[in-house]
Amino acid sequence: MEQSAKRTIPAVHRFTTDPAIASYDAIVGRSAVKAAVQSVLDSCRASRADAPAFDALRSRVIARLADIEATGLLTVINATGVLLHTNFGRAPLAKSALDAVARLGAGYTNLEYDLDSGTRGDRYERITSQIRDVSGAEAALVVNNCAAAVLLVLDTFARGREVVVSRGQLIEIGGGFRLPEVLAKSGATLVEVGTTNRTYASDYRNAWSPSTALFMRTHPSNYRVEGFTADIDARTLAELARELAVISFEDLGSGALVDLTRFGLPHEPTLAEEITAGLDLVTVSGDKLLGGPQCGIIAGRAELVDRLRRNPLLRALRVDKLTLAALSATLADYAEPERLTGIPLFAMLSATTETLMRRARSLASQLSNAAGVQVEPIGMQSTSGGGTLPLGKIPSAGVAIRASNHTAEELASALRARRPPVIGRIEGGRLLLDLRTVRPDDEAALVDALASL
Ligand SMILES: *Cc1c(COP(=O)(O)O)cnc(C)c1O
Repeated sequence: MEQSAKRTIPAVHRFTTDPAIASYDAIVGRSAVKAAVQSVLDSCRASRADAPAFDALRSRVIARLADIEATGLLTVINATGVLLHTNFGRAPLAKSALDAVARLGAGYTNLEYDLDSGTRGDRYERITSQIRDVSGAEAALVVNNCAAAVLLVLDTFARGREVVVSRGQLIEIGGGFRLPEVLAKSGATLVEVGTTNRTYASDYRNAWSPSTALFMRTHPSNYRVEGFTADIDARTLAELARELAVISFEDLGSGALVDLTRFGLPHEPTLAEEITAGLDLVTVSGDKLLGGPQCGIIAGRAELVDRLRRNPLLRALRVDKLTLAALSATLADYAEPERLTGIPLFAMLSATTETLMRRARSLASQLSNAAGVQVEPIGMQSTSGGGTLPLGKIPSAGVAIRASNHTAEELASALRARRPPVIGRIEGGRLLLDLRTVRPDDEAALVDALASL
């Protein structure tokens, strides 16, 4: 009797297809939306009282999703045109990497287990052979990020000894990575040679002493010294280091694995080029021009990598199975040229300005009758960002937005308040949205956001 009086609980799909609830798919993810619905319905089933009406349940689901949103990271629409924006988490991951993370993260893996012998295996073995293939290095190691990679190298080889660096390369990268400070932290003594704009091989030779451990060079990844300059190239430095029996080390940072001129960008030295030049150790970032997860790769001579592996500090810097899964899948995409654009960074880099302009026109035409807001398709320039390619501007297209009674700052702030937030850049009093960094999948959400202005 009591049963028949009970109001029936609405089906899950009535909630997941509700527009207000479905709008959270893009924010917290579909599965989190479904889980929130399920948990509201479960608690309603567990209660002895009548099931509330659909609208009341719907409000509970929305409140729960808003809570999840307030505590978690959000997906943002990056319309800044900066491809590797550190504030937005640098490189988006390839589908192959995401699939690998989902597959391997859901269960147990043979991360450190040798299936042949049934005993403990090596965490870095599989990734080492992939890095060897793309770089030509004898051996490799992966740690938490490139800063950690540099720290591990300095701590292993230069603690209590001297590191010779050109004054023109004493870099600071965003986020508090200043080379002189990292050197001090590792207990190494910095020996600066040359001048800001000119350093010669003879400067390194004259700086050598019996306590020299490393000749180090860094890739000036986020600035250039231009004009009357001289620098010692990787090959010369490697040869000089060999002659004087010290280790040659380069912090390459940006981490290109392929020649970027094929995307119309300026040439960046690749990991393979630096290894071929004879450097003993080279470090690169995983989430810059490599297009993978945050990590730092150390590639170089086997005997030196063995010593890095024996440093107890490695235990504190090691990467987890998810990072290794994502890096491995990303590196596998490099194995075949046609799979390279599966990496979002290269898909974005290979979009032609014609395609982007077509998208910009279509966006503007969908908003042509929005009152008080003017949306104009225009050409613009993207940048790679993330401390890479300081001089490289990439021709792009997008829309310029102007409103009759709002400033560009007000428009930018209104778009940031949207969910998902849309982030553009202000130039010449206009808000610019660069479509090179906006996924075609996000364009509907972008139109909604602009229409709401
Ligand atoms: C970016 C960069 C780093 C720091 O890399 P993370 O992976 O962010 O730790 C270090 N050195 C150079 C030359 C860089 O460009």
